[in-house]
Amino acid sequence: MVIVQIERIVVGFLKENCYIVTINGKSIIIDPGDEAERIIEACRGKQILGVMLTHRHFDHVGALDAVLNHFNINVLNEPCFNDMQIIETPGHTKDSLSFYFENEHILFSGDFLFEKTIGRVDLPTGDINDMEKSLELISEYPTDTKVYPGHGEMTILGDEIPCFTDYLQENRL
Ligand SMILES: [Zn+2]
Repeated sequence: MVIVQIERIVVGFLKENCYIVTINGKSIIIDPGDEAERIIEACRGKQILGVMLTHRHFDHVGALDAVLNHFNINVLNEPCFNDMQIIETPGHTKDSLSFYFENEHILFSGDFLFEKTIGRVDLPTGDINDMEKSLELISEYPTDTKVYPGHGEMTILGDEIPCFTDYLQENRL
């Protein structure tokens, strides 16, 4: 059984969730948004494989360069763990990604999906139609999936599906 260890560091004035995900002693940093020193400190003693980004809004990448330089690592565009999938979930931005660990049913959703709400679609490259498709796609995933969003607390996908089903019905043209 693979143990996925998740550490959350809340950074910056928008309280963005930076996550350090560790499997078998190897770690990635998801969305180093701000406060590079705190992120680097939290990585002490870990083998850092690279950074993964859900999207490039400033509150998710504010500490990116400092973290890349400190660890001499890169932004990874491919999954670096066996059971990790990169899912395209556009809507909040055109290039929004989510990261799913299929054995553990863990989803890092960035600003696509939050506890009791979904991401804004009114920012540049945001699109309500894309968002609807992404929500429909994610609703096929296991209902016990733990969702770790880019802001706020962890939630369970099955608890969110009724919320965004209502939302989709209200907003359908
Ligand atoms: Zn964003």
